[in-house]
Amino acid sequence: MSIMVPSTTPALITPGRQALDSALHQLDQAAGHLGLDDGLRTMLATPRRSLTVSVPVRREDGRLDVVQGFRVQHNVSRGPAKGGLRFHPGTDIHEVTALAMWMTWKCALVGIPYGGAKGGVAIDPAGLTTRELERMTRRYVNEILPLIGPEKDIPAPDVGTDEQTMAWVMDTYSVNAGYSVPGVVTGKPMTLGGSLGRNGATSRGVQIVTLAALGRSPEGVTVAVQGFGKVGALAAQYLSDAGCKVVAVSDVTGAVHHAGGLDIARLRGHAAQTGGVRGFPQADALSHDDLLELDVDVLVPAALEGVITEANAPRIRARMIVEGANGPTTPEADEILAANGTLVVPDILANSGGVIVSYLEWVQNMQAYSWSSGEVELKLRDLMLGAFSEVTALAAERGLTLRQAAHVIGVGRVAEAHQMRGLYP
Ligand code: NAD
Repeated sequence: MSIMVPSTTPALITPGRQALDSALHQLDQAAGHLGLDDGLRTMLATPRRSLTVSVPVRREDGRLDVVQGFRVQHNVSRGPAKGGLRFHPGTDIHEVTALAMWMTWKCALVGIPYGGAKGGVAIDPAGLTTRELERMTRRYVNEILPLIGPEKDIPAPDVGTDEQTMAWVMDTYSVNAGYSVPGVVTGKPMTLGGSLGRNGATSRGVQIVTLAALGRSPEGVTVAVQGFGKVGALAAQYLSDAGCKVVAVSDVTGAVHHAGGLDIARLRGHAAQTGGVRGFPQADALSHDDLLELDVDVLVPAALEGVITEANAPRIRARMIVEGANGPTTPEADEILAANGTLVVPDILANSGGVIVSYLEWVQNMQAYSWSSGEVELKLRDLMLGAFSEVTALAAERGLTLRQAAHVIGVGRVAEAHQMRGLYP
């Protein structure tokens, strides 16, 4: 059986809908490989809880804007729901559902006791003042309050949100509870119970799997990174620190290239000062599309979904793609890349460092305890490299791509949890 979802007319196919179609396709392939029955497949394809809310925002000039917000808990069979919160004008219920589903498989793949969730608000945070952003965040949190909690659903940063956003989430939840509840969110500032190592965790994880997948010295390995936000900028930094030559990076302002290798620390300073990578003096400008098609050893997409498609996949020259972003490669592109011998380290493995250290932060909060950065990094490395070896071993044994193998493991563990728990009533 192939998984049925409500149909939309072509005119309504948003990037979010495309992301959900990709996620359902990947689930369908894994379920076929695992021989899951139709009922279980449908359960795994369907979010457990989906909430759409209206968020009124009072602007500084007195106007009232109303934006849509979402929180989707895809699956909670293995533990509380866990997943980021995205502020982006293009986000919709389909995108949030796809991202929640990927979180479910990711947590199962790396062996942490969570289900998958995601949240989003369809707004551009750059268009709001800090006070408007705070009011909007607090009102959104208030609307989704019945769903979240340290034992139920734990948000974290994603595109357009950061540790300040998480502090507002924690405060709004705590004010309603009547006492401080640090475990309701991860990615918090250190002063509110954040974990050492959480800020750079996703990027550190990208570095760890890239070096493992290379299987040789990183010295001189050329890298291009799409996206220079929380994940991309530090992934570029850590890969550069490890000896790789990061020759190109991009963000929403543009792309920059220097064949001899970019000075990432200076570029981060430039981006912090000017608002983006464009105009960095020690580099040439490049188009967004050209960055993806550079002749490099490693391409790290670390921006948004659906950027490597059947249209540009035939022109991708990178030998390896390490997916810092969620869902950057469409299933059609995956087939082309596999046929061309490009190794794709899939999102649910490559960017799992974020949720792994989020889990460590939550464990520390639940025990009112804190670990050193060395302890956190050791645990991160162990979980990521363990998952990497399982995925590569299964791929080799069954002739699967790394994405297929990662999904077979993740989906398989969630299916097993359902089977062991049985169905209530
Ligand atoms: P962010 O908002 O901090 O950064 C996003 C970056 O992408 C920005 O630099 C932005 O300018 C850039 N960008 C947007 N559109 C672009 C385009 N068309 N071309 C080039 N650059 C573009 O977000 P983030 O937290 O770094 O998340 C990036 C990706 O990583 C997302 O897919 C997210 O779901 C995923 N991810 C994030 C985390 C995390 O811990 N933050 C964890 C796992 C996965």
